[in-house]
Amino acid sequence: MKISPETAALQDELLRRLKLLVAIDSARGPAEAGAPFGRGPRQALDAALGMLEADGIRTVDLDHMAGYGEIGQGDEVIGIICHLDCVPADRSQGWQTDPFVLSEKDGILTGRGVADDKGAAVAAMLALKVLQEQHVPLNRRVRLIFGTNEESGSRGLQHYVEQEGGVDYGFTPDGNFPGIFGEKGTLKGVYHSRRTQILNLSGGMAPNVVCPRCTAEILPHSCSRSRLKNYFADHSVACEIEELTDRDRITVTGRAAHASMPELGVNAITFLLMGLKESGFQDPFTEFYASHFGYTIDGSGLGARCSDEYGVLTCCNGMIGMQDGVITGTFDIRFPVTMSSRQIRRQMEGHLEDENGWAEIQQAREPLYYPVDSPLVRSLHQAYVEVTGDHENLPATMGGDTYAKVIANTIAFGCCFPGRNYHLHEANEQCPREELLEQTEIYVQAVKNLLAL
Ligand SMILES: [Zn+2]
Repeated sequence: MKISPETAALQDELLRRLKLLVAIDSARGPAEAGAPFGRGPRQALDAALGMLEADGIRTVDLDHMAGYGEIGQGDEVIGIICHLDCVPADRSQGWQTDPFVLSEKDGILTGRGVADDKGAAVAAMLALKVLQEQHVPLNRRVRLIFGTNEESGSRGLQHYVEQEGGVDYGFTPDGNFPGIFGEKGTLKGVYHSRRTQILNLSGGMAPNVVCPRCTAEILPHSCSRSRLKNYFADHSVACEIEELTDRDRITVTGRAAHASMPELGVNAITFLLMGLKESGFQDPFTEFYASHFGYTIDGSGLGARCSDEYGVLTCCNGMIGMQDGVITGTFDIRFPVTMSSRQIRRQMEGHLEDENGWAEIQQAREPLYYPVDSPLVRSLHQAYVEVTGDHENLPATMGGDTYAKVIANTIAFGCCFPGRNYHLHEANEQCPREELLEQTEIYVQAVKNLLAL
């Protein structure tokens, strides 16, 4: 790894800034005057813009929804786009440290946002500082853009685009190195059922996270408790059964994972409902769930299963709840980069409902796809190779949805290095300390390469 002395000197400053940003719980909250996505995101935006100003960089706050700092001159803009919000961190979900206190053990930093995406935001800030200190001639403007609700719809960056337009070349360090030339399309939907014996049902953190915990209440003796216990023992999934006066309450604990990689999670909704079914619980909704989702994560129950040369379709069940006797759950499909939402919808026709329930698509987003040999993808990949010496890992596609879909001429680049699990959107989100410096150096080189185009 080639790290310049200017970058190496910033180690403490990187940690200082990251600590300040991690301390702000910037998960989306209720809108307030001057805080369209809640207090946390607003506070994080103020803090980050303040850090840029302290570096002598001019900043603009766009109605507290997004903001940016800029260096350089010229008509064209190179954008680095990060987000300052985070997904919620529930201390009960297995955090070994306080998620809002940056901690370090054996060179590994832990805290909500260290990898998604506050670490990258800090590394990008300091990349601008290095470019200034190295007196790199800036024939284009270099803009560090902050959004404040990437995890809940990207409205903040849309506002930026409406106010300021796009960028000429851009990257968003909210995916993987050495670059993501394709992002799967998304189809987000819900399913409903009123045909159920379940008395109460709730679970999930967010629609784009594999459900880590789910609770159901059923009448006593409506299934075999011993078969239920055996089922969970057989599947090595944690389950707690409480015997209340008029009902049994069953809580299943699985493991959260990002919706784009449901194979890394253990879905508590799935195991709870399939466990009930296997234990003799007779229920139309449970049958609906089993036939439309069940254990699969490839969308086959919805008729959506497909793949292209870059990957397969995935389907994640995130949240579930019950109100006035109606069960509603969410699903999040990521489909291959060379396909269209129309194709998938057509495939799903006739598979969305039966007598026990129905599913509907509420939101569709087309995939993003840049050829691997386009100047943007090539320049960024080269920057990665120049700094890391890693020729083996190549730009790839992914299932995650990033800002690249919102702002033109942009791909995801960083901040995750190949082959490491950062526990994104999970408990104990982490990032090796040394990677912050490496990221900074790669972003510096990336801007230099983009300046040369
Ligand atoms: Zn992110």
